[in-house]
Amino acid sequence: MIKQLTCIECPVGCSLAADIENCRVVKVSGNKCPRGEAYAVSEIENPVRVLTSAVLSRGLDLKMVPARTDKPIPKAKLYEAMEALKKICVTQPLAAGDVIVPDFLGIGVDLIATREAGQVKI
Ligand code: SF4
Repeated sequence: MIKQLTCIECPVGCSLAADIENCRVVKVSGNKCPRGEAYAVSEIENPVRVLTSAVLSRGLDLKMVPARTDKPIPKAKLYEAMEALKKICVTQPLAAGDVIVPDFLGIGVDLIATREAGQVKI
């Protein structure tokens, strides 16, 4: 089976054709560099995404603290990750880049803040 993809590793956006046998990529064509082949293999055999969202806060100057995973996570884990995010409430001030949850979902990625959130000034 041939699957058509567009490489998103750089702005060139090569059109890729991945030849798939038994859920494995056996050949990639259309890529102008090796990153395209790596992208096609990853996208078909183990697609991953950086999760970008926000978590609730209490007592901070942002009602929701923007957050993301520090590395891509398997697409198959995105729903579980979104459900886990709903249960998080940040109560301590954070700087951008601070870890909110280390080893988020137990898969070796950290959930980090992407914006500073300070204590509410009274
Ligand atoms: S294959 Fe290489 S040149 Fe083409 S879009 Fe991907 S990274 Fe860019």
